[in-house]
Amino acid sequence: MSARQSYEPVIGVEIHVQLATATKMFCGCELSFGDPANTHTCPVCLGHPGALPVTNARAVELAILAGHALGCTIAPRSTFHRKNYFYPDLPKAYQISQYDEPVCLGGEFVALTPGGELRVGITRAHLEEDAAKLVHAGPGGRRAGAESSIVDFNRGGTPLLEIVTEPDLHSAEDAVTFFKQLRLTLRQLGVSDCNMEEGSMRADANVSVRPVGSQELGVKTELKNMNSFRFLERAMEAEIDRQIAILEGGGKVTQDTLHYDPDSGTLHPLRSKEEAHDYRYLPEPDLVPVVPDPAWVDRLRAALPELPVDRRRRWMAELGITFEDAEVLSESAELATYFEDLAARVDPKAAANWVRGELRAQLRERDEEPWESRATPERLAGLLELLDARTINVPAAKEVLAELIERGGDAVAIVEAKGLGQITDESELDELVARLIADNPEQAQQLRDGKEKVLGFFVGQAMKATEGRADPKRVGELVRDRAGV
Ligand SMILES: [Zn+2]
Repeated sequence: MSARQSYEPVIGVEIHVQLATATKMFCGCELSFGDPANTHTCPVCLGHPGALPVTNARAVELAILAGHALGCTIAPRSTFHRKNYFYPDLPKAYQISQYDEPVCLGGEFVALTPGGELRVGITRAHLEEDAAKLVHAGPGGRRAGAESSIVDFNRGGTPLLEIVTEPDLHSAEDAVTFFKQLRLTLRQLGVSDCNMEEGSMRADANVSVRPVGSQELGVKTELKNMNSFRFLERAMEAEIDRQIAILEGGGKVTQDTLHYDPDSGTLHPLRSKEEAHDYRYLPEPDLVPVVPDPAWVDRLRAALPELPVDRRRRWMAELGITFEDAEVLSESAELATYFEDLAARVDPKAAANWVRGELRAQLRERDEEPWESRATPERLAGLLELLDARTINVPAAKEVLAELIERGGDAVAIVEAKGLGQITDESELDELVARLIADNPEQAQQLRDGKEKVLGFFVGQAMKATEGRADPKRVGELVRDRAGV
């Protein structure tokens, strides 16, 4: 048994998502990404003395929505605290955050995996404001080696929801699966756009390892601010390996905060926990507690749409489609709706194959999405019915699809206009096959000798002779009959 197999990783994650509000958490400044620096500021988010914050009701609403989706209890009363520390991106020298009374408590998120379910306990989710953005001037654009650093306050005061999980994850792969499905859920609920490149979703991971079978938790380290699934997975893998190597060498893991360097694939300590700040949390005196009307909380729960994980589970159970198909087809709410509409009209498995395969392939070249396309579910269903009835074959169906995408219209009319209907006259096909065998005695003999590949030659010849209007499967059968195989 390798060292890796004798240890069990234990992982919990903290996820920050930027809430999809129009304005900031405690002021009316507009939220926008990429605008000129310091164009969305006011005395509140610049921390001028005496400026008074007001909680953004929409941010509370989105937090409650997320809480419902995570199976959390929505606190009847939650409060804000001041988290004190000094840093140039924090003009008040404190961040307003929820501390001991968060808005959402104790839930569970269920993710689907090819092998079953992945259940992850949710400890809490709380509201807070983001810091401003430091821009490091000089070569490299990083803090180290910068000639100077300047501050863009546009991001300062952005509403964030921090979701904290229990240490229920036991591999980097599972953590990424959880993370991806949580992201899909929050996006489809409109809680956040979860755009990792723009920093609207960031993850920290707490990682420890313990001998397999042990129930005690090992010393954990914290991996900070990973902003892509790939880095997240690699950083966790690297940290699991690093901790196992320390323990196997008789050493002890120290409780560090680590930064992952994607270029070198290594982890560097940021600061030791012993030196960590005492944030001196103080109750925020300028904000009233959040006490949501219970009827409003119930209304939000009742209005919750079907969650992606529930939709996937239902499709697999009721429509008989595979996990992989369900995963791809539920990537967005629009695609899911398109597929459901089609699957209600034709065989769901055929619907899944065509949407995932040919439809998306043809649309990709035009940079179009299925739900925006002229090939509506109704029109595509018409096409798949012709295919199912063997009125047309697969190559012809692809041609009809191209026409539907280009001009819309009706599959039956397109087949007629283009003369794409399959030859249904059995005797016509039989005659053709007899002729092909007579004309190609050598190949016919090879087929009788067991060279299965030669069958393709005859089918190809038949398709050529009929300009693609023969049913290749039926031709194959006839060739076997005629050749006496
Ligand atoms: Zn402001």
